[in-house]
Order: sequence, then C-alpha cells, then structure tokens
Amino acid sequence: MDQQSLTEKSYWTKRRKVLSNVDCFLRSHSTDSSLMEMSDNCATSVCAVKTDCSSVIDSFITTTEIPATSCSTHSSSIQRAEHDEICANSETLLSDASDCLSQDSDTLADEYKLCGELAKWYASFGISLDALGALLKILHEYHPILPVDARTLLKTPDTSNLNIRQISGGEYYHFGVANGIQNVFQQGHVRCSQEQKEISLQINIDGLPLFKSTKYQLWPILGMVMDLPVKHVFTIGLYGGNHKPSDISQYLHDFVKECQYLEVNGINLDCDVWAFKIHSIVCDAPARSFVRNTKGHNAYGGCDRCRQVGLWLNKVIFPDTIAEKRTNFSFRNKVDEDYHTGESPVLSLSIDIVQQLPLEYASCMPRCCASISHDVVKRSTNL
Ligand SMILES: [Zn+2]
Repeated sequence: MDQQSLTEKSYWTKRRKVLSNVDCFLRSHSTDSSLMEMSDNCATSVCAVKTDCSSVIDSFITTTEIPATSCSTHSSSIQRAEHDEICANSETLLSDASDCLSQDSDTLADEYKLCGELAKWYASFGISLDALGALLKILHEYHPILPVDARTLLKTPDTSNLNIRQISGGEYYHFGVANGIQNVFQQGHVRCSQEQKEISLQINIDGLPLFKSTKYQLWPILGMVMDLPVKHVFTIGLYGGNHKPSDISQYLHDFVKECQYLEVNGINLDCDVWAFKIHSIVCDAPARSFVRNTKGHNAYGGCDRCRQVGLWLNKVIFPDTIAEKRTNFSFRNKVDEDYHTGESPVLSLSIDIVQQLPLEYASCMPRCCASISHDVVKRSTNL
C-alpha cells in the first residue's frame, strides 16, 4: 500500500474513531434531546463526505460546554464522579475533534487543488468531456469531494435559462450593445463630464475556428467604444456552429435591431442619455463580403472600392487605378447589380456602407483602390 493510501486510511480510521466516541459519549451520558439528536446525526454521518465531519464536531464542541460548566455546581460525590468522567471524555474528544478539524482543513485544500489540477489537465491535453467524466467516476470513490460530473468540475455555466436562438445552422446568443456600453461606463472608462455626450462604437465581425479536430467555429460580434483612453473590447453577440452563419440577416438581426433603436433613442448611461452612432465595422475581406452580402473579394467584379472587372494572373488582380469608385449611394441603389448577392442587414443602419467598412492593411496591398499607388500594384502583381 503506498503512502497516500496509508495517509488516507489513517484519516478515515481516525475520523471513524472520533465519530464513534462522540456517539457513545452522547448515548451514555446525555439526556438532553438536542444531544441525542446530534448523536443520531453522528451515526449517520459516518458514511457522509468528510465535510460533514466539521459540522458534527463543531456541534459537539458547542454542546459539550453544558456538562463541562455544570461540573462545579454538583454537590453529590456520585454525580461529581460521573461528571469528572464526562469532563475527561470531553477533553479527549475535543482533542480528537481538533485533530480531525485540522486534518479536515488540510485534506479539503488538497482536494480543491486536485479539482483545479484536473481542470487544467483537461484543458491542456484536449481531453474529451466523456473521458474526463469517466475518470472522475473512478476517482470519486477515493476522493469523495470530487464531483462525478465533468461539467461540475469545469464550472460550466448553466445555459438552460439563456435565450440562445437556433439560427443559420448554429446557435446565437445576443449579449447586447447597450449592456456592453453600460459595463464600460460602470468601469469608469466613460465619464459623465465628457463634453460631447456621444458613444461612437467600432464593430468587429469575424469567424474563428476553435479546434483542429472539428469544423466548429465561432462568429463573435465585438464592440469597442472609440475615443476612450482605454481600449475595452466587449462581446455583443456570439454565434457557434459547424459552419459560418448561412444567413447574414438572421445572424445580424438582433445586433441591427438594437443599433437601430439606439440610433433613434440614444443610450441611457445613468447621468444622461447619450447619442449613439456606429463608427465603423471592421472585418477581413471574406467577412466584409459576407456582411455586405456582395461577391467575394476574389471575384472578377469583387473590388470593394471600385467597379472595374479584374484580370486573371494566377489570381484575380485589379490593375486599373482610375476606375469608377463605389459610393454609399451607388451601393444602396445597387447601381452595379452584379456585385450584390442579396440584401445586407447593415444597410438599415446610418452608416456609409463603403467608407465605414474599411479595408484592412493585408487586403489593401494587392488591390487597386485609390489610396494605393500604381507602383504598389505593379510590384504586388509583377506587371
Ligand atoms: Zn478597386
């Protein structure tokens, strides 16, 4: 038997001895109904987890003060002898109880540490939830404080009460635009003394894979209040599924509806009602096409900023630097019909659908748009 098993056996042996002594003491010497009740508790708690030991012994310590105090008040020698015995037993049991409490505390700390270590091990090695659950069932016999359910160990939040919607082949939860801004405000990042009471919100929409072993991916909608000394990003909505949302209107429905409301009514930040506007929606090229419901950035007519038709040179390139530019007006009126693949829900918002969805640096480099010089285009396309 290894050292751990010996220590464990010693602990449980000691515990059983203490509880047995408490039980015998109470049954033989006490007529107090509350003590008898406690005695019954002791008898049943032998099979309980070790945390019960503390409460039983605490109770014992409290209740045994009664006979200890009464020792000095009895005059009969027989009664004195009985109570001397009681007092002696009390001291022994209190000593045992103290040992038990001390060991209990140490063991509990070790058990909680074990819980934490197991959770870290699960996260580090990509263990499946089923495998962790099976391991916990084995360990639970030797470590009763360990939970049997893996979700309890990992402190997985109960999502049964959350309003998670089934959309576009996945699940979506809307944390809220106003909630996020109000949290930023409560953390002191937005000040009531600010002269211009306007919240300017930058949005980021993108997809990210979670695991190499599955196709499951997340599509968060993130927000950040602009013009603050601290950049604080918060989650507005979160989609999870085995593929990207199949319907952009469903995916952005809650976000757009709430932004529409805030644009009209403002946002209440305790001290005042602040105006609300979207500063920009930042996405990479594929996500930008997705949000705007247009052709992909690799399509021949897929440039975000102009209407030229691209050329094929191992990939689609856009060499013309003076092509007709796309504008908010031309986009909203679908002047270039072939460019659009459907209605974009963000058109419901008061934004410039071209300029307020900026190009990120990486996708700017190989493209034609007005801000990129012809030389850059030539270098990047080897013309
Ligand atoms: Zn272009």
